[in-house]
Amino acid sequence: MDAFDELQLLSRQMAIEPAEEVGATGARPTPCGVDPDAGMIHHAIMPGGKRIALLKTLQTSACERDCYYCPFRAGRDFRRATLSADEMARVFDEMARRGQVEGLFLSSGIAGGGIRTQDKIIASAEILRRKYNFRGYLHLKIMPGAEKEQIRRAMQLADRVSVNLEAPNTQRLAQLAPHKVFLEELVRPLKLIESIRREQGGGPSSTTQFVVGGADETDRELLLTSAQLLREARLSRVYFSKFNPVPGTPLENRPPENPLREHRLYQTDFLLRQYGFCFDDLVFDERGNLPLDADPKVAWARQHLAHAPVELNRAGKSELLRVPGIGPKTVDVILRERRKGRLRELTDLRKLGVIAARAAPFVLLDGRRPAYQLPLW
Ligand code: SF4
Repeated sequence: MDAFDELQLLSRQMAIEPAEEVGATGARPTPCGVDPDAGMIHHAIMPGGKRIALLKTLQTSACERDCYYCPFRAGRDFRRATLSADEMARVFDEMARRGQVEGLFLSSGIAGGGIRTQDKIIASAEILRRKYNFRGYLHLKIMPGAEKEQIRRAMQLADRVSVNLEAPNTQRLAQLAPHKVFLEELVRPLKLIESIRREQGGGPSSTTQFVVGGADETDRELLLTSAQLLREARLSRVYFSKFNPVPGTPLENRPPENPLREHRLYQTDFLLRQYGFCFDDLVFDERGNLPLDADPKVAWARQHLAHAPVELNRAGKSELLRVPGIGPKTVDVILRERRKGRLRELTDLRKLGVIAARAAPFVLLDGRRPAYQLPLW
């Protein structure tokens, strides 16, 4: 196989990894479906809203570790592929010049330790930036146990860096990846990224990913760690990737996780990042999971607003953001419209972009509960 064939194989193997935002709900990237590169290139939405064709790939799909859920684990029987730093940069540059790709997300299996593997990822990025003068989007994975100076260099080259935590704490990680060290190898690099940003007065964004449903972890555990890291390591996104069993791994007989659980976690992550909620606001069931039958904002509102509705003509921004059916953009519209006149009817709200049926049970309009019809279902 030539280097392009190897890259195709690596990229298809990599398709399972969430990388960048692909929609407001944070759903997973979807293949662009353009032959012959289907599965290699993904439409990704950049922080400013621009869409780019992103190549997600691996430096190598060989790995010396044996994480229980992972298709790349050592000893699993499948065709592995590896590209040198020169090959990776050259093949990507050819694709970029043909207009097929505009950005690269580069990760790797671990071969020769996390530090050596990180060196190879950095070398690919260096060649791409220096020799091929690539100025587009670059997302580099930080390997478990990477050193501070490696992280600093990766941050100089990349627009985004990420470390996959996989599990919310040491005990849960032991059920997924027995040879990864949670605090030292995974949390420490995430905190180093933030400390380097502080030292330099800025830098690329950082993200992490959890496997959901692979280690009997609860949503409470996942969201507690997420909330801490959003605050302390200033992550710009947390990705939740539902567990799917991979044949030939120790967890192959474990059932796949319900996609609705992943969706509820993403909704909650938005509440933490964009709606002013904190961990203590979240509503969990007796097992420590988010209710699947209610949007997490509605679950909170049923407990707190059903008997103390928000007066939409007086409430401040943070109060308005707590109302189901009202998002950050709608809050601004409501505040603007209130300067022109009072909000009196649900139809007034609908015109402003509020999902009126959702908001109605939790609001007052001029001191009155708005008349609304309960949904049939
Ligand atoms: S270290 Fe990464 S690539 Fe290797 S088995 Fe674990 S999760 Fe998979």
